[in-house]
Amino acid sequence: MSLTPYKSDIIQIGSLTMGGDLPVRVQSMTNTDTLNTASSVSQCIRIIEAGGELVRLTAQGVREAENLAAIKSGLRAAGFETPVCADIHFNPGAAEVAARIVEKVRINPGNYADKRASFIRQEFSDSEWKAELERTRERLMPLIKICTEYGTAVRIGVNHGSLSDRIMTRYGNTPEGMAVSAIEFLKIFRGEGFNRIVVSMKSSDTLTMVMANRLLVKMMFEEGMHYPIHLGITEAGEGEDGRIISAAGTGTLLAEGIGDTVRVSLSEPPEAEIPVARAIIKAVAGEAGRVKNPVAPLEKRRPGERWFPQVYTRERDRFNDESGAPYTGDVLTASPDELQATEGRQAYDRILNPVFNCDDPEQLAIEAAALLGRFFIARHPAGLCISNSGAVQGDALRRLAFSVLQATEARITRTRYISCPTCGRTKFNLQEAVRKVKEATAHLTGMKIAVMGCVVNGPGEMAGADYGYVGAGEGKVHIYRGTEAVLKNVPEAEALDKLLELINNDQARQ
Ligand code: SF4
Repeated sequence: MSLTPYKSDIIQIGSLTMGGDLPVRVQSMTNTDTLNTASSVSQCIRIIEAGGELVRLTAQGVREAENLAAIKSGLRAAGFETPVCADIHFNPGAAEVAARIVEKVRINPGNYADKRASFIRQEFSDSEWKAELERTRERLMPLIKICTEYGTAVRIGVNHGSLSDRIMTRYGNTPEGMAVSAIEFLKIFRGEGFNRIVVSMKSSDTLTMVMANRLLVKMMFEEGMHYPIHLGITEAGEGEDGRIISAAGTGTLLAEGIGDTVRVSLSEPPEAEIPVARAIIKAVAGEAGRVKNPVAPLEKRRPGERWFPQVYTRERDRFNDESGAPYTGDVLTASPDELQATEGRQAYDRILNPVFNCDDPEQLAIEAAALLGRFFIARHPAGLCISNSGAVQGDALRRLAFSVLQATEARITRTRYISCPTCGRTKFNLQEAVRKVKEATAHLTGMKIAVMGCVVNGPGEMAGADYGYVGAGEGKVHIYRGTEAVLKNVPEAEALDKLLELINNDQARQ
């Protein structure tokens, strides 16, 4: 892994500059129907007024892409110059329409020209691989020409779980597959002299997202590329858990100097994402919005070495573990600033004892996860004791420590939820469904349950979940076991019971 801090080129996206030493930009995505101009414009305005510097809307078809013109006009008429981005999956035609209208188009290499992963292994010989890449280049050419002519930026947005069959056959659903997928597209765009590009590697899994971005940076260095990077954990869920997992993954990379724009994906109103993204950036980079002295990525603890981090409480100078036994090893006590400057070895096999001064539980959760995530992703500290001189005290600090361990998969003590932020494809009340599913399954420690808005992207992007509750149209839900839809088109009113029945039956058989 390169130790040279990554510094991206500066690019222009409409009225917004991004990259270099500029502050890390904040953005969000609407969840309205893109054909509904009035509600889309209103939601864009709410995002912008919350501090969003770019707004993205789904354009699943040509009609939605065309309606971006009305939405953009509505925004400009209301006095907002904020750049608009179209989110494209599967539909190059929609991308080519949108690229003439909006300032940025996001495409997914997993489904732009290649077939989306069907989880059925196929073989590609080297010559077939080359031919497929050439076909991809030809498929991208019209978009590259349009973007060049109109000055439109492109995000090459790779998602774990929506890699193409071709990439999956050679690399599997891995960080390497994600980075290779992006590099292939970057080379095609660069080969045509097109460099107004942002690139992203997203996953609902913190470790995969961090690894994929580090690999991307390494591969871009090797290719002499310095494109700005968009960071985010996908399907982060909602509430405190969604904030903590987002902060742990994004904060780790920002501390390393990686990341030029952040989108936090919460199953909440999109404008609620903006203050969370800002708080993550501030926790790591301060008011400047960009880390001045990036830390080196921490090497992970050697595989096979036993590691089981404990959560500690502090009584005066004594640290007790969960059984009440005192800890006699080394402790690293650090303020947030000292924590940000701490190198990995300093935390190795010690209790990490950050001391915050925060009265707001949400703020504290974000700050703690953003600063602590990298140590636990690298599996370094022997344990964690969070101290605070502000109003948040007692069991809330202990719970927060467990949440940081859960978010970094250092120690799993609860059910893990994946839920998408919703978009124009969602046809049911996902936030309500998440609430009900969480209430009914909170006892299933260690299980991963996904609640996703649509069957188009949901099943791929919840890869790794044990069970899925996936919207399949108006009032209908598919229930998944792993990647298989075992119950289809279940009426929404019965879907939770069916999901629980499936889990209970599976558990009874074990
Ligand atoms: S899973 Fe479907 S509904 Fe949810 S954000 Fe992704 S595309 Fe939109």
